[in-house]
Amino acid sequence: MANSNTRQLRIAIVGGGLAGAAAAGALSRLPNVQVRAYERAPAVREAGAQIAVMVTALKVLRRILSPAAWEYLQSRLYRGDGTDGIHHRHWKTGEILTIAISPDTPRYLQEGRTSRVSLHRALMIDVPDGVFEYGKEVLKVESHRQKKEVSLHLSNGETKTADLVVVADGLYSKIRRQYLPETEVKYKGLVAYRINFSISRLAHIEDLPNDSSSFRKGSNVVILSRLETGTYSFAAFLQEPEEFAASLRWEHALGQAGIHRIKGKLADWHPLVTKVLDALPGIDAYPLQEAKWMEHLIRDDTVAFVGDAAHPTAGGWGTGSAFCFADVWALYRSLHRTCQGKETYNIPHALQLFNESRRHFLQRVERQFDYDKMDTKYVNEAVDDHDEFTKRYRERYTLISWILEHDPELWWQEVEAEERHRNIRHDKRLSQL
Ligand SMILES: Cc1cc2nc3c(=O)[nH]c(=O)nc-3n(C[C@H](O)[C@H](O)[C@H](O)COP(=O)(O)OP(=O)(O)OC[C@H]3O[C@@H](n4cnc5c(N)ncnc54)[C@H](O)[C@@H]3O)c2cc1C
Repeated sequence: MANSNTRQLRIAIVGGGLAGAAAAGALSRLPNVQVRAYERAPAVREAGAQIAVMVTALKVLRRILSPAAWEYLQSRLYRGDGTDGIHHRHWKTGEILTIAISPDTPRYLQEGRTSRVSLHRALMIDVPDGVFEYGKEVLKVESHRQKKEVSLHLSNGETKTADLVVVADGLYSKIRRQYLPETEVKYKGLVAYRINFSISRLAHIEDLPNDSSSFRKGSNVVILSRLETGTYSFAAFLQEPEEFAASLRWEHALGQAGIHRIKGKLADWHPLVTKVLDALPGIDAYPLQEAKWMEHLIRDDTVAFVGDAAHPTAGGWGTGSAFCFADVWALYRSLHRTCQGKETYNIPHALQLFNESRRHFLQRVERQFDYDKMDTKYVNEAVDDHDEFTKRYRERYTLISWILEHDPELWWQEVEAEERHRNIRHDKRLSQL
C-alpha cells in the first residue's frame, strides 16, 4: 500500500510481449510503485503459434503468477501422458532417442506446450487495469543523472517520465540500438514454419502419438504436438537461403506453396511428418534472426533490459520465454531487496544486483550456442549410420538441463549472499580503523 510520506517509484516498461507482460504483473506487486507499460501495437497481440514452456519458465511463473493465473496456465499446458517432457525421436525411424527433462521433476513443473496467445493471457491476468497504454511507441530514453530520472520520448510527440525504465521491446529493440548502435541483427540461416490447427484434420491418422515429438536432423527440426483441447501444432525450423528468408519480410502466410516447399525438404523423414504436412490448412513462415547479447543488462543506473531486447536470439532450445521470466524474477527480487519495508528504493543498487545475478548465466548460455553448432556437426556427420547417429545424438543432446531447468532464484541468492558478506567485511574493517 502507498505510504503518503513517500513518493511512489515510477516504473515505465517498454513493450508488452511476454517479457513486458510478465514485468507489468510482477513489478505491480512491489510496495509503493506506479507501473506504466507502453506497447507499440494498437491492442494485445500474440502470434497464433505454439510455444514450449520449459521447467525454468515454470519455476519462475509459479512464484510470480497469482493462483488464478497459474491455474489458468496449468489448464492450457499440454504435456501428453508421459512424465518426461518432449520426446526426441530419430528423424527417420521415429524411435525415441532421448527425453527432455529430469525424471524427478514434479508434474506441475514439467515442460509443456501451449499457444502463445494462452501464455500471454495467463500473464495479463495479473496486470492491473490501466497499466498498459497501447499504440504508444517509445523512440528513445534519456537519463537525467542529477535528477535521478529518465524521460521516454514517444513517436506521437509525448514525453513520459520515470525513475526506472524496463526495456522489453524485443529482438529488434530500438532502445538497445540506442545504447549499442553497432550491434547488427542478422539472419541465422533458419526459417521457422508454424501453424496451429484443428486436430480434426488428423482424424484419419491412426498412429498419431499422444506425446510431443521432436525430430532432428542436423540443424533441421520438426516439432509435432497436441496443444490445448482440439488443437494440434506443426512447427519446423529449416535451413533456407538468405534470399528466400529476405522475401518473408512482408509475407508470412505461404499457404499450399509453403507446404509444398517443406515437403520437398522433408520427403525422406518419418512418415508421420509427411502425413501431418498433407493435412495442414496452410503454413506461416518467419526468418530467425539474432544479434550479439548484451554483456550488461543495465544502463545509466536507471535502465534495465529484459527478454529478447537483452539477449536477442530467435529460437534456441525453446527457452526464450524462460529467460524473459527469469530476468523479470531477478529484477523483482532485486528491487524488493533494496526497499525492504522502507517503501523507498535504491535503484542503482537494485540494478547492480539484477545485472550480476543474470549476466554470468546468460554469457554461459551464449557460449553454449557455439558448442551446440559443433555438436550438431558431429552428430550429423553420422547421419547415414543409424547406430552411430543414435549414439552421438544421445551423447550430445542431453547435456543442457543446466539451461532448461535452471532456477534464477538460486543465482540471485548466490549474488545477494556474496554482496552481504562483502558488506560485513567492509563494515568490520571500518570499525577497526
Ligand atoms: C520461431 C520462434 C519459436 C520460438 N519458440 C519458443 C519456444 O518454444 N519457447 C520459448 O520459451 N521461447 C520461444 N521463442 C522465443 C520467445 O518467443 C521469445 O524469447 C519471447 O517471445 C521474447 O519476448 P519479449 O517480450 O522479450 O519480446 P517480444 O515478444 O518481441 O515483444 C516485444 C514487444 O515490444 C513491442 N515493441 C517493440 N518496439 C517497441 C517500442 N519501440 N515501443 C513500444 N513497444 C515496442 C512489440 O510490439 C512487442 O509486443 C521462439 C521464438 C521464435 C522466433
